[in-house]
Amino acid sequence: VDPAREHRIVALDQQVVNRIAAGEVIHRPVSALKEMLENSLDAGSSSISVQAKGGGLKLLQIHDNGHGISREDFPKVCERFATSKLREYGDLEHIETFGFRGEALASISHVAHVTITSMTEGATCAYRACYADGQLTAARAGEEAEPKACAGTRGTQIVVEDMFYNVLARRNAMKSGAEEYAKLLQVMQAYAIDNAGVAMSCKKQGEASSDLHTLKEHSTVDIIRSIYGSALAKELVPLKGEEATIGLQVCGQLSNANFSAKKLTFHLFINKRLVESSVLRRTLEEVYAAYLPKGGHPFVYLSIRLPPESLDVNVHPTKREVNFLHKEEVLAAVQQFARDALISENTSRTFFTQA
Ligand code: ADP
Ligand code: MG
Repeated sequence: VDPAREHRIVALDQQVVNRIAAGEVIHRPVSALKEMLENSLDAGSSSISVQAKGGGLKLLQIHDNGHGISREDFPKVCERFATSKLREYGDLEHIETFGFRGEALASISHVAHVTITSMTEGATCAYRACYADGQLTAARAGEEAEPKACAGTRGTQIVVEDMFYNVLARRNAMKSGAEEYAKLLQVMQAYAIDNAGVAMSCKKQGEASSDLHTLKEHSTVDIIRSIYGSALAKELVPLKGEEATIGLQVCGQLSNANFSAKKLTFHLFINKRLVESSVLRRTLEEVYAAYLPKGGHPFVYLSIRLPPESLDVNVHPTKREVNFLHKEEVLAAVQQFARDALISENTSRTFFTQA
């Protein structure tokens, strides 16, 4: 090796760049599922079903009845930064859809084999195409890399196979399919709770029974009952509140003082997006400290609405962290709403037993 050449700077191959970038968006099967699930919701679906094999690493399939993808758009679906949802930067301030970066499917296609079948309303047939590294690819050697007409119904089916086949270190880091499947199911359950009116199901491919199965007519409490059982469902109190000065609206379901679990279950949605917030988590645990025995934890489902312009969802491609303006006000308001919900529950109970 020529020592002078060894340390020269060389631009990375585009494929390497894409694969690295994809790995930052798609950490594991559940990150792919969340993106595809949000796409199905963005498409206005009222029914979404998911099947997985090997925890989603071997196969991850999602089927929806949304508005579908037209034949002309097929070549662009997996192209990076190609989207039907955002037209100009200013739109970011009032965006209502989950997606907007046009990055998800592109990223998935860089770390897995993707097959999309889709049919739009009123189209005469569905189309199917395969993707690799952001582009249409032939289903089999010798065939043409273009969408093929096939039978179908309105909606989209996406099949993702052999995730991380080309990123072996990542694939090997994922030890158990069971663990990955548990994460897939958790995300499906959370979105099912926040999307009453949309039927959702999740199962392992080849198994007869579903691990999640909700119907369109199920209420939020019905859905929580079907996931966690009636021991929790009968101890739920609704939460509702509004703080007009910052445009905050909160609704949700919380367990009352009769329910206590070893671990906190906290499903938090901000503007319909599943997110995490350790500060809100702490705030809620504080509220419940007055109600639950030591070591006991509640179940909390919160759906928070804030004006999009007071949220920065663009912090990271995964959009998992949300920075919000007026953080102190939001925390104080949520704490108050939770207290109110629990207190009104308590007084109505006392009243009930006295009567
Ligand atoms: P984004 O959601 O940010 O636009 P994606 O990579 O997730 O980017 O999707 C790219 C495009 O593919 C979307 O803008 C949308 O037009 C289309 N698409 C993806 N999934 C679906 C689906 N399930 N139904 C209809 N259209 C879809
Ligand atoms: Mg998307």
